[in-house]
Amino acid sequence: MTKATKILGLIGRAVDYSYSPLIHNAACRLLGLRYHYTVFNIADPCMIPDALRGAKALGIAGFNVTIPYKKTVVPYLDELSMEAASIQAVNTIVNDRGKLIGHNTDIAGFAAPLLPYRESIQGKTVSIFGAGGAAVAAIEAFNRLFAPKEILLFVRDPEKALALLKESGYDKTAPVTIVRSDDPAKIMECRVIVNATPIGTRGGNSDSQKCIIPLDRELLHTGQIVYDMVYNPLETPLLQASKNAGATTISGIEMLIGQAEHAFTLWTGMQMPVPAVKELLLQEIQQQ
Ligand code: NAP
Repeated sequence: MTKATKILGLIGRAVDYSYSPLIHNAACRLLGLRYHYTVFNIADPCMIPDALRGAKALGIAGFNVTIPYKKTVVPYLDELSMEAASIQAVNTIVNDRGKLIGHNTDIAGFAAPLLPYRESIQGKTVSIFGAGGAAVAAIEAFNRLFAPKEILLFVRDPEKALALLKESGYDKTAPVTIVRSDDPAKIMECRVIVNATPIGTRGGNSDSQKCIIPLDRELLHTGQIVYDMVYNPLETPLLQASKNAGATTISGIEMLIGQAEHAFTLWTGMQMPVPAVKELLLQEIQQQ
C-alpha cells in the first residue's frame, strides 16, 4: 500500500502569487517526501477559527501564514514557540497529532544573511523602514542576536508605530527610536538599512512604487549593508542604488528562503536542499 500524501498550505488573502508552493514542493520532490503544498486563500478573517478547526479534523500537516493573518491566528493555536510568543505573530503552524503549534521563522530567516556581519553590527546604529509585521520580526532579530546601539524605525505614521512598539513591549525592551521617513539624513550613520515596506515591488500599486528611502549617493555608502525584504524584482531600485554607491546588498530572496528552510524542517524533520531549491526559484523569478 502506498503511503498517503500529507498536505501543507499557505493561509493568506489573495496569495496566488506566492512562491512558497514552488519552494516546498520542489524541496519535497528533491528529497522524495510525500507532501503536497498548496494555497488556501481566506477572504474573511471570521473564517480563520473554522479553517484551523477543519485543519485538525482533516489532519493537515501544517501551514505557513501570511498577510493579513499572522496575528489573527494566534488565539486559535494550542501552543506558541518562544519566538512567536515574543512578537505575537505566527508564520508557520505545525499540526502535532492534533495540537496546532505556532512558530515564527521570519525572525531566523531575516537574521540568517546578516549573521556573517554580526560583529560589525554590534554597538552600531541600524535602521528599518516600515512598521508592519516584517519590521517587528526585524526588530526582534536585531534585539535578540545583534545587540545594536540603536534601531531607527523610519515610518510615515509615528503614532501608529508607537502603538505597535507599545503592543510588543519594544518601547521598553529594545533601543528603538521612531523617525519620520521624510527625515532620512540619519541613515548616513547606519551600519544596516532594512526596507520592510512593499516599496519597490514589481507590479505593486502606486503607493508601493514611491520611494521613501532616498536613492542618494550622499546617504548611501560603502560602510552600509542594505537589506531589501522585497524579493521581486531580485534587484530593486534600492538595491541597485546601494550597489552603485558601493554598499553591501542583501535581497529579500535570502529571507524568503531562510524562513522557508526553517518551516520545512519544523514540518518534515529534514533539511531543505537549499542550493537546488534556490536555483529553481531564481529561474522562476527571472522568467517573469
Ligand atoms: P505590513 O504589515 O502590511 O506592513 C507594511 C509597512 O510598510 C507598514 O508600516 C506601512 O505603513 C509601510 N508602507 C507601505 N507602503 C508604504 C509607502 N508607500 N510609504 C511608506 N511606508 C509604506 O507588511 P509586512 O508583512 O510588514 O511586509 C512588508 C514587506 O516585506 C512586504 O513587501 C512583504 O512582501 C515583505 N516581506 C518579505 C519577506 C521575505 O521573506 N523576503 C517576509 C515578510 C515580508 P503604514 O502602516 O503607514 O501603512
